[in-house]
Amino acid sequence: MKVPLLDLTQQYERFAAEAQAAIARVCQSQHFILGAEGRELERSLASYTGCQHGIGVSSGTDALLLALMALGIGPGDEVITSPFTFFATAGTIARVGARPVFCDIDRETFNLSPALVAEFLAQSCEVRGSAGGRELVNRKTGGRIKAIMPVHLYGQACDMDAFMEIAERYGLHVIEDAAQAIGAQDARGRMVGSVGDIGCFSFFPTKNLGAFGDAGMCTTNDAALAERMRVLRVHGMEPKYHHSLIGGNFRLDEIQAAVLNVKLEFLDKWRDAREAHARQYTERLQAKAAGGAVVTPAPSRAGRHVWNQYVIRAQRRDELRPYLASAGIGTEIYYPIPLHLQQCFAYLGHRPGEMPESERAAAEVLALPVFPELSPAQIDYVAGTIERFYAPAVTQQIA
Ligand SMILES: *Cc1c(COP(=O)(O)O)cnc(C)c1O
Repeated sequence: MKVPLLDLTQQYERFAAEAQAAIARVCQSQHFILGAEGRELERSLASYTGCQHGIGVSSGTDALLLALMALGIGPGDEVITSPFTFFATAGTIARVGARPVFCDIDRETFNLSPALVAEFLAQSCEVRGSAGGRELVNRKTGGRIKAIMPVHLYGQACDMDAFMEIAERYGLHVIEDAAQAIGAQDARGRMVGSVGDIGCFSFFPTKNLGAFGDAGMCTTNDAALAERMRVLRVHGMEPKYHHSLIGGNFRLDEIQAAVLNVKLEFLDKWRDAREAHARQYTERLQAKAAGGAVVTPAPSRAGRHVWNQYVIRAQRRDELRPYLASAGIGTEIYYPIPLHLQQCFAYLGHRPGEMPESERAAAEVLALPVFPELSPAQIDYVAGTIERFYAPAVTQQIA
């Protein structure tokens, strides 16, 4: 049996005719950038995520970049985020000239720990200046703390209540990196991307809602921020050839929007299938638990996980992975090197051991196949192969 980590071809067969017709309509119109398809996607995505405004952009990375730019974050500023995430989260902070400040993750959820963020703010930062010019300063660097960028990792919402409370207390912005988590809900049932100042989504093909190329979306409930993002998306141009802001080209293209408009109809069904797969894995792997060698993902204490990834912690992970590969099972490590130890961030001066939970996660995590079209037999095969890896002697006796 073969179980790839992800196979988009089966899914494509289900909506191929519709997608091709939608693409043909765009071709017929010869209107390729920021048109009717994009506006429709912005409306339906805003409504799906419970936000008032959607701003279609060229990728999830550009959504983060645009959010930072719209909030006026730049040189001298600092943004608190997780070191255990895809590179773009911290990469965009650095690209606007600000400094990424890493706080460690929660052991159970792999998400940025609100407790550690609160501890960092209380112990390492101070308010300076007088009324009007008050700034929250990082004592070590002298930088101004401006925002928190929590990541809803693997499709599981962060503790948004805690982050919003901290943000309010210190006057910080919150940018949600919801790239992996469209449709996920927090403990209070709020959709990710609708709680902070700005939500950022990615439609990279491997995300739960994937385009046929790159695309992304910013969401917000703040009309002024929405307008600012729309202007910054086209070089800060409003009206034509008048530039009051320095923006960029972060435009969404119509072919991607047309495909996403078709696929959005299927999103909830696909999410339900992922959820069923995750349940089956957890039941199987917890029942035998491979002698405690495998830790299954913590069931969301509350809220709704959308399972962009089903990630276990595994003892002897680096032996398990090739063992699964030789049995025809695809896996991946998200993420093998925490961002505070990446070469490009050496200037931040971090050392191994500073973020123990992120470093431990990087050494233990393994993502298993969880895409919607998998069959129960395939999941069973993956779980059974993991059990065999940890109990070869027992299996042989039974055999
Ligand atoms: C995918 C992803 C991004 C970037 O999205 P792109 O569309 O690939 O640019 C940002 N953050 C996280 C957490 C992601 O998973």
